[in-house]
Amino acid sequence: MKLVSYTCKPESSVYRIGFIQGDKVTDLQESYRLLLLHRKDDGWLEPLESTFPADPTHFFKNGEKTMAMAQAAYQFMNNQGANRDIAYPRDKVILGPPLADPGKIICVGKNYADHAKEMDSALPEYPVLFSKFSNALIGPEDEIEKTPATNQLDYEVELVVVIGREASQVSQAEAYDYIAGYTIGNDVTARDMQNRTSQWLQGKSIDRSTPIGPWVVTSDDMVNPENLNIASYVNGEQRQASTTNQFIFNIPVLIEYISHLITLQPGDIILTGTPDGVGVAMNPPQFLVANDQITLEIEGIGKLENKVKERK
Ligand code: MG
Repeated sequence: MKLVSYTCKPESSVYRIGFIQGDKVTDLQESYRLLLLHRKDDGWLEPLESTFPADPTHFFKNGEKTMAMAQAAYQFMNNQGANRDIAYPRDKVILGPPLADPGKIICVGKNYADHAKEMDSALPEYPVLFSKFSNALIGPEDEIEKTPATNQLDYEVELVVVIGREASQVSQAEAYDYIAGYTIGNDVTARDMQNRTSQWLQGKSIDRSTPIGPWVVTSDDMVNPENLNIASYVNGEQRQASTTNQFIFNIPVLIEYISHLITLQPGDIILTGTPDGVGVAMNPPQFLVANDQITLEIEGIGKLENKVKERK
């Protein structure tokens, strides 16, 4: 299942959780309501906001029980062929970030050896962790805002893990049981701000700088997240190309490590690091400017494309 956050055109401030199939977007809460009606379950009469929130972030924060309801609704709609009746054509909706306000945004630095090398950095002995805030997140149809505070804006394609169950002191063997799904993230970084001090935060969490999306592919539809092609392009020119089997710390190691320090909650996201090929490591360095088009591609998920615009 590919889960999207969508709103109908013209854009409203209310985004809802849906699923996308081909060029159709179907509302998930409405699908679940139809399933209850079909089962002659009176629940369809009740407000579903606590059991099956329409808001995408709340949907993910509700965790595995709501995800199981969503899977049942999705199967029902496909078996009935009913989604044709309540589905919106793709060009009638706007997609937002699949989660606009995760409880935690945890990022992993230097998690591909070739990237650590191009940054003239030793391979990390332990995962390099930092965070962003939700002010940074934008969706697949938004523009990356370049603030005049930086002249060194750079891209980083990353596989993003969405947590599906509360995770505390989880072992590597169990780690995948705690993942709801996967999406693509662009850990856009202002290199001059990142390197101004020893802490990276100021270069990493600038307002409206971090696109995620275009959808979350649920775990059941992801064959092998440890071996996905991952690439980025700027104005059509390939800049990064690797596979996630190049992780220094793979997903189970990260979840074990992080969950022994921080209890992860459903809807938390982890950006797992970027491969080599970033702009700052080119000779000469190449930074993003207004109107640049960045295309990120991860096998099994799709493409995330955003333009850069100058913030006034
Ligand atoms: Mg990064």
